[in-house]
Amino acid sequence: MSIFSRWREGLSRTSKAAFGQIASILGATEITDETWDDLEATLIQADLGIETTSSILDALKRLTRTEGWTRSGELFSALKQELRSRLIVPPIIDFGIKPTVILVVGVNGSGKTTTIAKLSSLYVNAGKKLLLGAADTFRAAAVDQLQVWGDRLNVEVIAGAPESDPGAVAFSAVQAGVAREVDIVMVDTAGRLHTRFNLMEELKKVNRVVGKAFPGAPHQVWLVLDATTGQNALQQARSFKDAVNVTGVILTKLDSSARGGMAFAIQRELGLPILFAGLGEKPEDLTPFDPDAFVDGILADQ
Ligand code: GDP
Repeated sequence: MSIFSRWREGLSRTSKAAFGQIASILGATEITDETWDDLEATLIQADLGIETTSSILDALKRLTRTEGWTRSGELFSALKQELRSRLIVPPIIDFGIKPTVILVVGVNGSGKTTTIAKLSSLYVNAGKKLLLGAADTFRAAAVDQLQVWGDRLNVEVIAGAPESDPGAVAFSAVQAGVAREVDIVMVDTAGRLHTRFNLMEELKKVNRVVGKAFPGAPHQVWLVLDATTGQNALQQARSFKDAVNVTGVILTKLDSSARGGMAFAIQRELGLPILFAGLGEKPEDLTPFDPDAFVDGILADQ
């Protein structure tokens, strides 16, 4: 399947539900106040966020004036371009430092553990030597899940006893990664509710401790967000950003979400690139974020 059709399939709920009205709004009618009102409502309902929606509308109104457009159909390709220009091209991840230490953070249920498994298979297949740290010591199931993936991919997993100190597990994992000369150490962290002060304090500690095991680490902090949780995910992201230096977002469950528009809000309101997107449950469904395929996918139904 080509990249574009894969994204179209993954985003079909979003393109039908959230953006499904675009075709009728931008039908071959005259541009009226109603056109702008309907477009605004659609973009807000798609979870683009108020700021992004206003800036897109302002840009389209300006273009309409300067280009002298009168028919609403003329707006479609401009809308596509405006959407595309608001997405950050994900930076190329630098694995120059050996080991590159990646902390993976996010609340329980966001898809953090399966995402780590999917990323592991991606990097192992790309020829990287990997080590996993199972520092979500509060959830035996998460540790077991990582062990199973580790065995399957022949990747060493460092885990502690249940309820043991997550910082100690993270420390051992990074130390082991340095000793074994792996390319990447990926550390799973606890994800009890973000509003719990303890979780954020614990994350800060894991972050510090990892830097003691290997100065300069962590080199990446990836925040896993569930696309189906809409504005709530933004709120979570703000809390995580306050606690640790988040370098990028992994947006999971885009296939289950009808409001993929939140990808725009994340980038605009948090200034964070989306590195990967989850378009399904299978390992190959975690895919590097592709702004062109994303915009094509959300507007595919038009
Ligand atoms: P954690 O609590 O954050 O570690 O979450 P899990 O990794 O256990 O995932 C929670 C559920 O979300 C599991 O049933 C996963 O299969 C599912 N999941 C994760 N990512 C995706 C995705 O991109 N699409 C879909 N449809 N399901 C996903």
